[in-house]
Amino acid sequence: MTHDAEHHGHDHHHDNDLDPFAARVRALETILTEKGLIDPAAVDAIVETYEHKVGPRNGARVVAKAWVDPKFADWLKRDATAAIASLGYTGRQGEHMQAVFNTDDTHNLIVCTLCSCYPWTVLGVPPVWYKAPSYRSQAVINPRGVLAEFGLVLPEDTRIRVWDSTAELRYMVVPMRPVETDGLSEDELARLVTRDSMIGTGIALRPGSLEPGALWPAVSIPGAGV
Ligand code: FE
Repeated sequence: MTHDAEHHGHDHHHDNDLDPFAARVRALETILTEKGLIDPAAVDAIVETYEHKVGPRNGARVVAKAWVDPKFADWLKRDATAAIASLGYTGRQGEHMQAVFNTDDTHNLIVCTLCSCYPWTVLGVPPVWYKAPSYRSQAVINPRGVLAEFGLVLPEDTRIRVWDSTAELRYMVVPMRPVETDGLSEDELARLVTRDSMIGTGIALRPGSLEPGALWPAVSIPGAGV
């Protein structure tokens, strides 16, 4: 039995393996559990729900439907909260949604500069980097540099719009539909929609290149300095 398993009945990794955020969460969970303020099983159930039942697959279905159904796309543009709810995705941290659509000349990026506001109902729990001070500040100061760090180099004349999420309003990015996807079903299209493409730190995958992190069409501009 590991130290942690002895300590609070869970088979977690040792704290030394954790990043600072996870270590802080672990410490808080331990204290709150010891004081009898929370039940670790209840915490696990919530995490399980948001990691496995609510996750970016929800958002991917929203995007795929917008790609194939212009009426739905229009609804999503006008009233994202209602359009997303029509697919059954409702709940905490998704009460007021706005969908921002990438176009040929505009790429959208979402951030919460203040803390970690994130559209849980469509994207699940945020990645650790989304909550990092470096991402939260650099996404605003130097969005192009942030995208480059994610391996995404956009043409210089592509405008990057940064959307600052709040407790009241959460954004999701609708990436552009990749070319050569004409014959694909909605389910097949949804598989091309990554979490990062809905945050704006990535774009949708090319069919047949489903490895995580594969980006296409990532346009490299010679001399762009990244
Ligand atoms: Fe926040």
